[in-house]
Amino acid sequence: MSPTYTHQFNTAAYKGAATINTGLFIDGEWVAPVEGGEIEVINPATGAVITKVSAGTKADVDKAVAAAKKAFKTTWGSKAPGALRAKLIGKLADLLEKNVDEFAALESLNIGKVFAHAKHMDLAISITILRYFAGWADKIHGTTIESTDAKVGLVQREPYGVCGQITPWNGPIAMIAMKVAPALATGNVIVLKPSEITPFTALRFADLVVEAGFPPGVVNIVNGFGHTVGQAIAEHPQISKVAFTGSTVTGRKILKAAADSNLKPVSLELGGKSPTIVFDDADLDQAVKWAAAGVFSNMGQMCVAGSRIFVQEGVYDEFLAKISAAAKALGDAAGDPFAEGTQHGPQISKTQVDRVMSYIESGKAEGATVHVGGVRIGDEGYFVQPTVFTDVNKDMKIAREEIFGPVTAVFKFKTEEEVIELANDTVYGLAAYVFSENIRRGLRVANALEAGSVAVNSANLFDPSMPFGGYKQSGIGRELGEQAIESYTQAKSIHINLGIRL
Ligand code: NAD
Repeated sequence: MSPTYTHQFNTAAYKGAATINTGLFIDGEWVAPVEGGEIEVINPATGAVITKVSAGTKADVDKAVAAAKKAFKTTWGSKAPGALRAKLIGKLADLLEKNVDEFAALESLNIGKVFAHAKHMDLAISITILRYFAGWADKIHGTTIESTDAKVGLVQREPYGVCGQITPWNGPIAMIAMKVAPALATGNVIVLKPSEITPFTALRFADLVVEAGFPPGVVNIVNGFGHTVGQAIAEHPQISKVAFTGSTVTGRKILKAAADSNLKPVSLELGGKSPTIVFDDADLDQAVKWAAAGVFSNMGQMCVAGSRIFVQEGVYDEFLAKISAAAKALGDAAGDPFAEGTQHGPQISKTQVDRVMSYIESGKAEGATVHVGGVRIGDEGYFVQPTVFTDVNKDMKIAREEIFGPVTAVFKFKTEEEVIELANDTVYGLAAYVFSENIRRGLRVANALEAGSVAVNSANLFDPSMPFGGYKQSGIGRELGEQAIESYTQAKSIHINLGIRL
């Protein structure tokens, strides 16, 4: 048994205690890491250490893989009918809902997300995803290709077995739900590594796995650093598939490790530099609100952040004035994520705040103008003022690289053809947003954009029944929707000879 940590919340948003086990969750039990490592968990709103959690190594991944393999053979995989998998995943959703305030509080504490956003967005999304995939678990079927007196051909969809899952820090519980739910629905077993920066909700989630009644070893959670636990998962010869969400740099390493080990299939959800396009005929007030939410929510720490905003010349000045006012108002509402009225929290870490500030400095050095923001807020924690750049050239670093902070560039354009070229001029292709009251134009531009998801007249891309993933260097494969069921199963063709005689 490993130690627990209890955090007492006495805040405006939430009062209550949350207890997490700080060990590794392997084979249904809490254990200490083989080599005894630890990771400090920092409160980004203050910079103070909250507690320490265990850091595993390759030896712990080996243990988790062995437990998962055993579960796959004895209690899960073909031993667990779809109806049972549906029931247990549904229970997980119910338990998450029952404990929603506690989970939202842990998420806010660990990441600095505004409590209400954590509760009504991240947790709500996570619960919805679990329910959606619970619904799939007993509806996964193959096909009969030919049925004659001579032959029957069956195509079955079978789970891979042990799936490695590696998640980032910007939406910990939602990323876990997105990966765990389809893997379990399809009968796979899991070795999950959450981000070392944000382990809290992952650890608490393990308790719900037990409470829901999953057999030991079906879900294993091994906290630890990327270069140790993450790398061990990527190159493990007995892990049959890896699903990763994180940066493009890490995605490349995982793909290489998978190629050099057992050639396991890898799905990658990576970074972005998504365009927001506002045409003259848009409902401008709505476009401003969505565009601001689309880049500044979660302090800009979103893979789908609309961090390049292209505005048609006729409405450019008005749009710029309005989005600048929105950015300023958001900065004025920065503060304690649990306090009433807070709308904007801190960046996740010192590393991240330094990174964001260095992008802001590079923008200035390359000749862009800070229209609003561009500075840190206060001297405690990692807060950055929502920032709007103008006079940005498409070749500047801030126009090309993912900043992963509350920073956007506003560009002026003249024609539809021109803006499509500009929007697609990026190595990424995760998301895009188009604002126009002309639905023909909206759809035409959506068709022309090189992105895995396009929203017309919103920046809300979440629907568990629609696939999510990237074009170009934003990823490989899709999560959510029916595509996730496909991605967690492999086809097996069975040829049955009924009458062909030699
Ligand atoms: P990151 O790549 O640094 O880390 C992601 C995860 O990978 C962490 O758990 C980390 O420990 C692990 N990791 C690091 N090095 C590893 C290695 N060598 N082998 C295996 N695992 C390793 O990303 P981050 O900073 O946590 O997250 C931010 C990035 O994630 C951004 O680029 C963002 O765009 C991206 N992201 C993408 C999506 C999406 O769905 N496309 C969603 C959220 C975040």
